[in-house]
Amino acid sequence: MGLNKILHTNAGDGETSYANNSIVQKYGISKTWPILDETLKNMLDTERFEEYCCFKMVDFGCASGPNTLLVLSHLMDTLQDFSSGFQEIQVFLNDLPDNDFNNLFKLVQSFYQKKETKTKPRCFIYGSPGSFYDRLFPSNSMHFVYSSYSIHWLSGVPEGLESNNKENIYIAKTSPANVLEAYANQFQRDFFKFLNIRGEEMIPGGRMVLSLSGRRLEDASSMVENAHFTILAETLHEMVVEGQVEKDDLYSFNVPIYIPCPREVETIIADQGSFKLDKMDVFPVPWDPSQDENFEKCRCAKFAADSVRAVIEPMLASHFSRVVNYDVVFEKYAEKLAEHLSKEKPSHFTIAISLRRK
Ligand code: SAH
Repeated sequence: MGLNKILHTNAGDGETSYANNSIVQKYGISKTWPILDETLKNMLDTERFEEYCCFKMVDFGCASGPNTLLVLSHLMDTLQDFSSGFQEIQVFLNDLPDNDFNNLFKLVQSFYQKKETKTKPRCFIYGSPGSFYDRLFPSNSMHFVYSSYSIHWLSGVPEGLESNNKENIYIAKTSPANVLEAYANQFQRDFFKFLNIRGEEMIPGGRMVLSLSGRRLEDASSMVENAHFTILAETLHEMVVEGQVEKDDLYSFNVPIYIPCPREVETIIADQGSFKLDKMDVFPVPWDPSQDENFEKCRCAKFAADSVRAVIEPMLASHFSRVVNYDVVFEKYAEKLAEHLSKEKPSHFTIAISLRRK
């Protein structure tokens, strides 16, 4: 099966859907408003795009849920506040062809209705199915590129992993050195290619704001940052012992995701050369943003398990040969996450960057 079929979030708007389990990403997205607004303001103040032409932008890896429209709504309000002179905005929503575009375009209809009261700029929204590791738009056509929580998805499982990573599903303390290298190299190749292609598609002076999951530490195998993958691997391993999951299936499964550190991101941008890095922010995003002072471990663990499920379940389901009860997997996973949690509220890290097309 092609990787494009595996890489998508849980569809629809049901209990386990991405649409209903993307509050962590929503929290992270709202933390990027300052960098997003500053980037747009700076672009509109300094660049001399043809006056009153149509502002063209794309959201890469938009998924299917309220976050997509949240971003769009914020962007439109910002463009209006800066009275950009653009009368029309053309927005492309990109994701892989198996993304639930049907659910997304139902949300777009109500978005149009809500925004219709405001006159300018007028917004036209299109779907753009395909991989962002391929060329998707004409040369020199995009003013603005946006993407949240998608660029850490690799174009595939890193080459050369085979069953070297045994019962791990991502980089872990027990992963051999060549597993770390394979992941880092794949991210290097993929992100380089992403920048190369966007460099062709974007207008000189155009801007790009990307946010992606990141790690603070140089050590890519740190349990502190990889706990959610390590504990999911332990859960699946227990299910192998119980005979509910095939051992070979687990040994050959690795997530096509890489969590880079800021230095890796900076180096690839500099090496690729089409973009100037104007700004980089690294900030924590709690596993369960809905909890504040009264932190409850079990609630946090259940919340984190549901968030991971919305993203990882399609990958597991397409890889495992045997029919597995995913309600059981993710219940067990939530219990193990709760055991792991201490009194402190756990966080993931996000890297947000603002780039300028040279
Ligand atoms: N931007 C959304 C969704 C993040 S989930 C948010 O912030 O909430 C990541 C999304 O990236 C998924 O919908 C997945 O299908 C998409 N994705 C992963 N690899 C992709 C690729 N190569 N091309 C296009 N989309 C991709």
